[in-house]
Amino acid sequence: MRLSEYFLPTLKENPSEAQIASHRLMLRAGMIRQSSAGIYSWLPLGERVLKKISEIVRSEQNIAGAQEMLMPTIQPADIWKESGRYDAYGPELLRIRDRHNRDMLYGPTNEEQITEIIRSCVKSYRDLPKLLYHIQWKFRDEVRPRFGIMRGREFLMKDCYSFDFNYGAARRSYNKMFVAYLRTFARMGLTAIPMRAKSGPIGGDMSHEFIIMADTGESQVFCHADCFDYNVLEELVDYQSDLEPLVSRWTDLYAATDEQHDSSEFERSVPPDKRCEARGIEVGHIFYFGTKYSEAMGAFVSGPDGGRVTMEMGSYGIGVSRLVGAIIEANHDDDGIIWPDSVAPFRVGVVNLKPEDQKCNVLGGEVYEKLRTNGIDTLYEDREGRAGVKFANMDLIGLPWQLIIGPRGAAGGRVELKSRKTGQRDELSMEDAIKRVIA
Ligand code: ATP
Ligand code: MG
Repeated sequence: MRLSEYFLPTLKENPSEAQIASHRLMLRAGMIRQSSAGIYSWLPLGERVLKKISEIVRSEQNIAGAQEMLMPTIQPADIWKESGRYDAYGPELLRIRDRHNRDMLYGPTNEEQITEIIRSCVKSYRDLPKLLYHIQWKFRDEVRPRFGIMRGREFLMKDCYSFDFNYGAARRSYNKMFVAYLRTFARMGLTAIPMRAKSGPIGGDMSHEFIIMADTGESQVFCHADCFDYNVLEELVDYQSDLEPLVSRWTDLYAATDEQHDSSEFERSVPPDKRCEARGIEVGHIFYFGTKYSEAMGAFVSGPDGGRVTMEMGSYGIGVSRLVGAIIEANHDDDGIIWPDSVAPFRVGVVNLKPEDQKCNVLGGEVYEKLRTNGIDTLYEDREGRAGVKFANMDLIGLPWQLIIGPRGAAGGRVELKSRKTGQRDELSMEDAIKRVIA
């Protein structure tokens, strides 16, 4: 993409409404624009990151054996009346009435909708288990939307639902999602720690929140320092095998959110130097809640002996849009964002310091075409202007690589390659620089 054509409305000044780094940087880097409180438009650069994150989430859900579908954002109130949540949910639920005076709502989550589908279509225990997910916009009329897209009113969530025949099978589904979540966040370069959590308005009795440590996080958490040390990506995960040992390695270490924190257990569990008290951002939440919805909504199957068995359920959310902010909180410096490779909106920014110079212009165009034809997402700074402004802009939007073309090097076909993360600059031939970016 040529910057002379790209829609990237960056801001020089810090917007006064932004209290935390990710909000400030997303506005300054031209990723989002507020529409109304807690509701945002995603501009081209932001949309690219949202898509990259969704793709990682999707791929790990699929590997775990979940099947993608798409449910509507607007739901009929009837099914929420059946589950009892139409009254229980409170003012966070956006209630809507259509022209025929029917009560509708903008979904804050989809347990009722999926239960309604499964109860009508699944009749026998032989059709279980089922793991189904979608990636869809949600609306919650939060009392205090803040920190940009971190606590929005409209936000993008991946929500998966499991239906099983008995507790053992439901626990296997839960473990699959547990491992899928560890892998998903690791692929984004994040260490997300699973913490025992309260199950909240969704109800139930087994639940973990996945938390990324950050001083600006809204959750108070307590954990054993060894939680930080595992790398799940180093283990081959075979979802057909027993995941319990892998899951219990984490869950045996003390890690809990504020609501589930037990100080005496915490004190018994670890030498003092291993105990951390910190703040974090909740990026995912998994629940097992048994028959709470299936019972209320009549979702049952016939068992092996022909008798009725109420399905066991779980639900599993990931805050896809919140992750954009969380990743920035974990990866930035004073100059701007530092994208991890896997979620970067473009892999490389080609900075032409003097496009009006004939040699620079030819070399810049050549580098840009070579990268593009090799399938590398490339942003090309092809506009005239001061070098300092171009560098500041590139550092702000935080692409992993900057390939810099100036009049001195261009004459001999040489360019400079800078890593945004380490700041290291190397002078290389055009071919070698391209090879290194592709590698
Ligand atoms: P929180 O405790 O932050 O309010 P929650 O427990 O209500 O979140 P869940 O119902 O577990 O949220 O939703 C699943 C995921 O969706 C959360 O882990 C979080 O990452 C994301 N999420 C929830 N509410 C918001 C919001 N208002 N804005 C952005 N993301 C959100
Ligand atoms: Mg939660």
